[in-house]
Amino acid sequence: MAAPLALTTPADLPRLLTRVADESRRLRESPRESRVGCEVDPAKIRRLLARRYDFAAPMAADALIADVARMLGDWSVDVTHPRYFGLFNPSVRPISVAADALVALYNPQLAAWSHAPAANEIERHLVGWFAARIGFDPAEAEGHFTSGGQEANHTAVIAALVHRFPELPDHGLRSLPGQPVIYLSEEGHRSLEKVAVATGLGRAALRTIPTGDDFRLDPSALERAIAEDRRAGQLPLLVVATAGTTASGSVDPLPELAAIARREELWLHVDAAWGGGALLSRTQRHLLAGVEQADSVTWDAHKWLSVPMGAGMVFCRHPGVFDRAFSSAAGYMPGHRQGTVEPHASSLQWSRRFIGLKVFMALAEAGAEGIEQLIDHQTAMGELLRERLRAAGFEVVHDAPLPVVCFTHRRLEGGADTPGRLAKRVAQAGKVWLSAVTLPRVGQTLRACITSYRTEPEDLDTLVAEVLRELR
Ligand SMILES: *Cc1c(COP(=O)(O)O)cnc(C)c1O
Repeated sequence: MAAPLALTTPADLPRLLTRVADESRRLRESPRESRVGCEVDPAKIRRLLARRYDFAAPMAADALIADVARMLGDWSVDVTHPRYFGLFNPSVRPISVAADALVALYNPQLAAWSHAPAANEIERHLVGWFAARIGFDPAEAEGHFTSGGQEANHTAVIAALVHRFPELPDHGLRSLPGQPVIYLSEEGHRSLEKVAVATGLGRAALRTIPTGDDFRLDPSALERAIAEDRRAGQLPLLVVATAGTTASGSVDPLPELAAIARREELWLHVDAAWGGGALLSRTQRHLLAGVEQADSVTWDAHKWLSVPMGAGMVFCRHPGVFDRAFSSAAGYMPGHRQGTVEPHASSLQWSRRFIGLKVFMALAEAGAEGIEQLIDHQTAMGELLRERLRAAGFEVVHDAPLPVVCFTHRRLEGGADTPGRLAKRVAQAGKVWLSAVTLPRVGQTLRACITSYRTEPEDLDTLVAEVLRELR
């Protein structure tokens, strides 16, 4: 007979959570002393897993927590570090970590409203609040939480298709008289490529439009492309405007693109996955002026709003489109209650985690003005970084209004060294993490994004000093 299983019980949970809490010591006590970057040979991780985790014998929970925490700490890029100047991955606010623990504890199932009334109404409340920041009418606009920007963009393209071709949900792309076309700038997010594949439109549906000055979509190039496609018998469907490009933090000219979309009767989707954060700042929201004219918007809370992954949001100005796209009649689902939204029948996901709680608690704890301060602080740090770089002899390539700083140095021009190799050496040294990007017409530059609300001027000094030290 097998020995009785010695699993932890709910009575052990406080102790286990204390073990997890101990792991946060690094964040509490010396947030700047640990390494940011991570260099590890996959073979090393695989050897450890093969040796210690063949699952032949049970393992004590406390030792297990300690071991896993060590792996995560040693073998991850620490994107929560104040000196991580990386790819829109924020330091996470403690209240939002606590929120995620609460979600795991109660495990509410949001697929059906009646299974999770509190959670569903909290998300509904939040979606209305964010829709109002966009400038949508909260009484009309619809929205929901997504795993991230990829799913939000996917949802938006489906919404555009269903809005334009009401027969599509039943009869599919085959019923259409031609090839729908999606317009996106060369600096737009490549998640749209996967959306093109996933929707069955295919990559051929994606028209990449050049950018002009400041890496923003060139409206006249867009107009020419639309005219060409119409002449060729294609079906121009939607324009994706990016508000906060990944490489340079640029915002496409939203009012001009809205005017073109209106004139051409195209859907306008604004991908504000990261840049949406600026809408919460009274001094920055003008940068996204025109977003209120969009048909749909992507906005990730897990980027500038400093909550853990994955927390995206998608909004649509036209009521009923999500229902038409995603409705389903599964006999085993609880019935629909009048005046509520059934998430499983109005979004891509079925079983649905309580994504919104970490956003709700992060917002409630800070208040709108508190969030505004965090957003403004990061933008101020971006501005200060530009100043410090220029003072240290670097060339700032792009005066983005948002805190993404692309820069280079005379010594990197035409030499043997490249921004990519330099960024790698800086990351390997471990004190800061930054990357390199390739910008149209400019070529490769260094890129530092202020992505942590805990980044302070001393961290900018460290960044400048580290890059200078590695400069050859
Ligand atoms: C991050 C990002 C995405 C993809 O979002 P995920 O949350 O990573 O799925 C799409 N568009 C833009 C502009 C982004 O910044």
